[in-house]
Amino acid sequence: VRQKRIRNFAIVAHIDHGKSTLADRILELTETVSKREMKNQLLDNMDLERERGITIKLNAVELTYHGQDGVDYVFHLIDTPGHVDFSYEVSRSLAACEGAILVVDATQGIQAQTLANVYLALDDDLEILPVINKVDLPSAEPEKVKQEIKDVIGIDASEAIEISAKTGLHVDQVLEAIVARIPAPTGRIEAPLKALVFDSIYDDYRGVVLSVRLFAGTVQAGDRISLMNSKTEYEVTEVGVNSPHPIARDYLMAGDVGYLTASIKDITKTRVGDTVTKVNNPTEQALPGYREMIPMVYAGLYPTDNAKFEDLREALEKLKLNDAALEFEPEVSEALGFGFRCGFLGLLHMDVVQERLEREFYVDLITTAPSVTYRVELNSDETVEVENPAEMPDASQIRAILEPYVKATVMVPNEYVGAVMKLCQARRGQFVTMDYLDSTRVNVIYQMPLSEIIFNFFNKLKASTRGYASLDYEVSEYQKSDLVKVDILLNGDQVDALSFISHHQFAEERSREIVRKLKEIIPRQNFEIPIQAAIGAKIIARTNIKAYRKDVTARIHTGDPDRRAKLLEKQKRGKKRMKSVGKVEIPQAAFMTVLQTD
Ligand code: GDP
Ligand code: MG
Repeated sequence: VRQKRIRNFAIVAHIDHGKSTLADRILELTETVSKREMKNQLLDNMDLERERGITIKLNAVELTYHGQDGVDYVFHLIDTPGHVDFSYEVSRSLAACEGAILVVDATQGIQAQTLANVYLALDDDLEILPVINKVDLPSAEPEKVKQEIKDVIGIDASEAIEISAKTGLHVDQVLEAIVARIPAPTGRIEAPLKALVFDSIYDDYRGVVLSVRLFAGTVQAGDRISLMNSKTEYEVTEVGVNSPHPIARDYLMAGDVGYLTASIKDITKTRVGDTVTKVNNPTEQALPGYREMIPMVYAGLYPTDNAKFEDLREALEKLKLNDAALEFEPEVSEALGFGFRCGFLGLLHMDVVQERLEREFYVDLITTAPSVTYRVELNSDETVEVENPAEMPDASQIRAILEPYVKATVMVPNEYVGAVMKLCQARRGQFVTMDYLDSTRVNVIYQMPLSEIIFNFFNKLKASTRGYASLDYEVSEYQKSDLVKVDILLNGDQVDALSFISHHQFAEERSREIVRKLKEIIPRQNFEIPIQAAIGAKIIARTNIKAYRKDVTARIHTGDPDRRAKLLEKQKRGKKRMKSVGKVEIPQAAFMTVLQTD
């Protein structure tokens, strides 16, 4: 039967180790895309992915492989992101597969996300096929990396294929290994339909498109289906596969990975992790689904134009379909008006959501500085969770503030251990342990406040280790900390969206730096603007933005017309991303100053 010829697999790796490039070669070798259509990192079809050179979304394609045994195999390949913020995408892809190709860069060896992703695959009992990539580079050390895979992960890598995804060297052997090593799916075709929704997207023409993996039964257009968790029913309008463009099929059967549409209008009822079955012949038990994601950071998203609030809600709902980890609820800020408090898995995730909202849904946003969730014990014995610094209760009511800590794992060559420890210590890290991976590399583990990781930690880490360190972290526990809320006053008015929480010890220094930055960022006006930072009624830092005297517009009107047009255009764009608070115009960058301090 056809099922025996199916192979479902994901490609996992640390960021930049070559997953997307390997996917390109596989698409090419199997002639899934024509020479004319071929471009680098083809599956990264979001503009944002292409510009940044990173994979953000999982992507599933079907391809046909003519095996050396003369049999035609059906491959479902899922490319996955490597960044820690998107490991949720990875775990969802893996649940649709029987195997995973583990790509390790021969010049870098195992990195933090190599481990994180391989553990996800092992949790799902997937067959793991290690390949050593970039062997075309002179600094490649494939033997050393194989040994590392054995020592650190504990899987035999002696037969790992040495490839160059760039030149295509030995990629043909990877295809054969997929056939030989990754098991075909099982699951009865005559049984009731049981399919996992592992992704979804909103399409203006087709409505909601669900990506599904069938574990039992079949599905075709006209079937009445139900989503078991959300308890909603629909009629299937189309089933098919992406190859990589959508191709309609007569049916999908157990073992297949594909898509289905069913004129689903209510997008808020569709959730990844749900189980699809048939209304008149349902499966008994829903699939286990996915664990709920807990956002790590929160920030306020406000439309620059207050009238666009409902547009923003609709955009967030559509985006959430395609990004299950995104959370949001309405909130009001005195300074910014109506907006949403949104939960993200990390800063990159936040960045990506903001950009996707602006590019794909055309809403202009002001984003406030991210914050973690604090647990606040009140004198009244009550405990409240605070996701927005502006909502921190008055200090007189507070008995203690607890903040989330993470277990941070930093993988780094020996010579940078000192630098890493210094950085972690400066960020209130508590040393846990240090393991030698081999004679040259160390795994350094710290307990760190999550808030300290958010504030520029990764860039600092990269800078102090010449780019060699890799980082992974997981939430561990809440700990009591000596924290205070700092308010920012502009022209005497408190701007709630600029409030932030800081460790007592760093509050003054951070405040001084923030008022100094705000002075640079906020444009001068025709009156003097005092900027103050305060803890309660006590002012801890202050400066003034002087009133302007020069006529700035006069300068713009000189010079060549091209340059003038550009300047005006730039001003106009800058203008959009501003909010007037009282009499003061605050640009977007002001809300992020908290992030840029040391
Ligand atoms: P991903 O983040 O794992 O998807 O990595 P990409 O496929 O985007 O590759 C990251 C970078 O490594 C790109 O600049 C690729 O061109 C490069 N790269 C990937 N495979 C190879 C290889 O085999 N040899 C060399 N020299 N470069 C490679
Ligand atoms: Mg990629």
